[in-house]
Amino acid sequence: MSIRMYYPGGREKALTFSYDDGQIFDRTLVGIFNKYKMKATFHLNSGTLGKEGFITEQEVTELFRGHEISCHSVTHPFLNQLPQGQLINEIWEDRRNLERLAGYPVRGMSYPFGVYDERSLKVSETLGIEYSRTVNATNSFSVPGNFLEWHPTCHHNDNILGKLDSFKNQPPWSSLPLFYIWGHSFEFHRQNNWEIIEVFCSEASGDPNVWYATNIEIKDYIYAVRKLIFNVEQTQVYNPSAITVWLGRNGNILELNPGQTLQL
Ligand SMILES: [Zn+2]
Repeated sequence: MSIRMYYPGGREKALTFSYDDGQIFDRTLVGIFNKYKMKATFHLNSGTLGKEGFITEQEVTELFRGHEISCHSVTHPFLNQLPQGQLINEIWEDRRNLERLAGYPVRGMSYPFGVYDERSLKVSETLGIEYSRTVNATNSFSVPGNFLEWHPTCHHNDNILGKLDSFKNQPPWSSLPLFYIWGHSFEFHRQNNWEIIEVFCSEASGDPNVWYATNIEIKDYIYAVRKLIFNVEQTQVYNPSAITVWLGRNGNILELNPGQTLQL
């Protein structure tokens, strides 16, 4: 018997975006994502909200509705250089400030400047951060082993249209492929290349085989998949999580509800 995992709704692939720093150009970017029904995560420095060139606290909730609000530290320091107390403060207070605006627990992060080390990773985890994005491109569609070192597929300037072609034509042995694009919205403004993301979203949108999701939705789903409990004979599977998981058995796609045990 062959068991295969799927994304929600029995979809084979997932696409997510991750944008840092909360500058005013996020407004244009959110407009493009919404137009094409894309889901994205926005990593914000709560200490710079409302400063010149940055979005304001007042607009955060409405602007990012349907997307994910996520941490990027209070003041955007190099986390590896901070004394312990300041490191804790940069992450913990960013969560507190952003949660006040978001209205839900803020559980994700991206490392300022992409810089992290063993200590900042451990401290992040201790402070309730469940994933944190790096800037190290994998140029692949793999899901991370450790979500606190979540390496994206690539930056948006790195031939994302070419990669979309291979994403659309995945080999039959691929499993849970994930296309993860990161960047800063101000880069589209500075380089005057908004068409990159507009054309990409237009060509990537409306695919019934793709799950369009925020970073935390993907992390939660992959965790639920990894927590499934099979018996040794693989005739039963139990879903102990609070998330419905989709799996295929000999080509049939099954829905496994939270708390449910299925006979395979
Ligand atoms: Zn940044």
